[in-house]
Amino acid sequence: MDTETLIQKIIEKSKLSREEVDKKIESKQKELSGLISKEGAAYIIAKDIGLDLFTKKKRRLQIRNIIGGIRNLDLNARVSKIFQPIHFEKNGKKSQVANVLLSDGSGLIRMSLWDDQVKLLEKLKPGMVIDIHGAYTKDDSRGGAEVRLSRRGGFKESDVELPKADTSQAKSERNNISDLKENGTYELRATVVQLFESGPFYEICPDCGSRLKRTVKGFECQTHGVVSPSFSIVLSGVIDDGTGNMRTVFFRDAALKLINMNIDTALRYMNNLFENIDVLGKEFVLSGRVKKNQMFNRTEFVVSDVREVDAKEEVKNLVSQLKT
Ligand SMILES: [Zn+2]
Repeated sequence: MDTETLIQKIIEKSKLSREEVDKKIESKQKELSGLISKEGAAYIIAKDIGLDLFTKKKRRLQIRNIIGGIRNLDLNARVSKIFQPIHFEKNGKKSQVANVLLSDGSGLIRMSLWDDQVKLLEKLKPGMVIDIHGAYTKDDSRGGAEVRLSRRGGFKESDVELPKADTSQAKSERNNISDLKENGTYELRATVVQLFESGPFYEICPDCGSRLKRTVKGFECQTHGVVSPSFSIVLSGVIDDGTGNMRTVFFRDAALKLINMNIDTALRYMNNLFENIDVLGKEFVLSGRVKKNQMFNRTEFVVSDVREVDAKEEVKNLVSQLKT
């Protein structure tokens, strides 16, 4: 690189004027008693301001080109948002997961850190650019992908230049579990940390959908009498958003959305549904209402709609909140 190109790069990176850069070069030469050339001084200044001149840029995938199923991924990205780790138990084993939203100007993607990897959060700050190695990707069920670290994977701070993204850790306009009040309707973003594995299916009337009573005559609907039952599903568990946790009930469509099945598929797993769903530790956007469960005298979040977390939408939310 010739001196002129180098100076232009310093101007770009430092936002100093040409004059100021020339002055800096001069004073660096003086400081070193004129032992170095103008070019040498420029290189020292470039290095001081973190210009990445000497390492060859590796070819990396841009976020918008990342798909699921990539086995060995290196990636430069800016940390857009860091989420609190969520703790849960899976198959009797304690587990934890923390999500980090990454951006690079081409798109956004979620990186999830599991179990021991959660301690890597200490190394991360919002806005920081990182160089990730030894990662792989998994499909999420929305046609996007998420990044995970392999056992030998990791990351370090990088001075690669990437467009600024939203670096705010401000709360989204979503509600926190710790703030919920009885009878309020809310939208939450939370992780399912527990599912109670009690018989999730129940009999409903094929005509009106109401719950059937089992009598000596068979399954009876209050309106339609004895009918041959259809089935519906209810799931209950605990969700956590880092501010608190709460018992939660998913009825019918909400339960099916949660497990990403239709009722016929779910019924195929009538006796082993919980072995065939993968919900624990996953984050969802949940709409619903806080209700008092009279029988157990506790409040529950009764979910009316379930959506997967959409990284793009999350950032749109954040940005619009920051604007207001
Ligand atoms: Zn009926």
